[in-house]
Amino acid sequence: MAQKIRHVLGLSGGKDSSALAVYMRDKVPEMEYFFSDTGKELQETYDFLDRLEAFLGKPIVRLNMNADANSNRDFDHWLTVYGGLLPSSQIRWCTVNLKIRPFEEYIGTDHAYHYIAIRADEDRIGYKPPSISSLNNIEPKYPFKEDGITKEDVYRILEESGLGLPDYYKWRTRSGCYFCFFQRKSEWVGLLEQHPDLFELAKGYEKFNSETGERFTWCQGESLEELSQPERIAEIKANTEKAMASKKAAKPNRRLIEILTDVLDDEDDEEPCLPCHK
Ligand code: SF4
Repeated sequence: MAQKIRHVLGLSGGKDSSALAVYMRDKVPEMEYFFSDTGKELQETYDFLDRLEAFLGKPIVRLNMNADANSNRDFDHWLTVYGGLLPSSQIRWCTVNLKIRPFEEYIGTDHAYHYIAIRADEDRIGYKPPSISSLNNIEPKYPFKEDGITKEDVYRILEESGLGLPDYYKWRTRSGCYFCFFQRKSEWVGLLEQHPDLFELAKGYEKFNSETGERFTWCQGESLEELSQPERIAEIKANTEKAMASKKAAKPNRRLIEILTDVLDDEDDEEPCLPCHK
């Protein structure tokens, strides 16, 4: 029997993968869309996925989540497995267990074309084994790269579809868990102001060992308690506003979101995880 061939597109809740879904909808009608849910996404992400699902006219398969919530393999499940060790850019157990492995299980032994939203104006290599997946039955496809689609085109595709951007783009330019360690300082301030309840929950994950002095914090060298002090917030906001004014002066007539993206990338241009933040 011939091996089943599938076409799959993973959504992160971010702009690029969403625009790719819109772009591919009529080009590959048999496309399967999926979202690896960490259980710690922003409500704005879930709302956007619902709107995208309506646009695509087919379900976005949610990985990791079961009918019985007690058996969910979400972030907290894996945090327990890892003995309470918070993930970090050096130890990305969350991406492996919440994004990559569920995806590999979802594909199984089928041959799959995996559509990835690397744009033509990016130079990252993308979803290549062994750094992301060890499965050789998953073949990456880069339609944006092949068709010369840039960041500007992504904004246009989303605007023309009527979807626009997820609401969180007003204060944060990366998708993913509300406590993601790839967040920049001003995005943490955004979380504090937009979702103070989630900020408190994020604080609850940080640990301090008074005997050894060891600290396990989401941001290197600064706890969320420290970051949330009024003078520190004022300092972070002032830095962001200053950087935004300078970017705006250098290139006027750009959207606020583009300016904010540039400012945040300057603050920290560490390459975040592809399956979470595209
Ligand atoms: S969004 Fe951040 S914290 Fe969440 S799984 Fe991805 S890398 Fe880990």
